Amino acid sequence: MNVNALAKAKKQLEKEKKQLELGLSKISTKDKNLKDDYDAKYENLDSEIFDQSMEATEVSEYDRKLSLEANLEVQLREVNRGLERIAKNIFGKCSKCGKEIEEKRLSANPTAKICITCARKEEE
Ligand SMILES: [Zn+2]
Repeated sequence: MNVNALAKAKKQLEKEKKQLELGLSKISTKDKNLKDDYDAKYENLDSEIFDQSMEATEVSEYDRKLSLEANLEVQLREVNRGLERIAKNIFGKCSKCGKEIEEKRLSANPTAKICITCARKEEE
């Protein structure tokens, strides 16, 4: 793979990394704030008049954030692996057959680890 394509992939990965980290930091901060809010609410509420439906909404919102966070973490790990492969100079090599991964495939998805041929074989 040529130097330009490699530099482009690196830039793309670094950009994605920043965005993912930003997204993660936003979610974590929000979670913390919401948790504090919950504590305050629970303290002020009489358990007998506690609104169950409100609790359900808050729990599902929390679940949604958790799964979003897990999703971002998986993506961040992939991006970091891509950057690692660039550092080790093995970026763009198929981890199955060792051939070069098609540039088109890499520019669409710089975290791709295997070539199109191997990816198709896996799908079968
Ligand atoms: Zn391959």
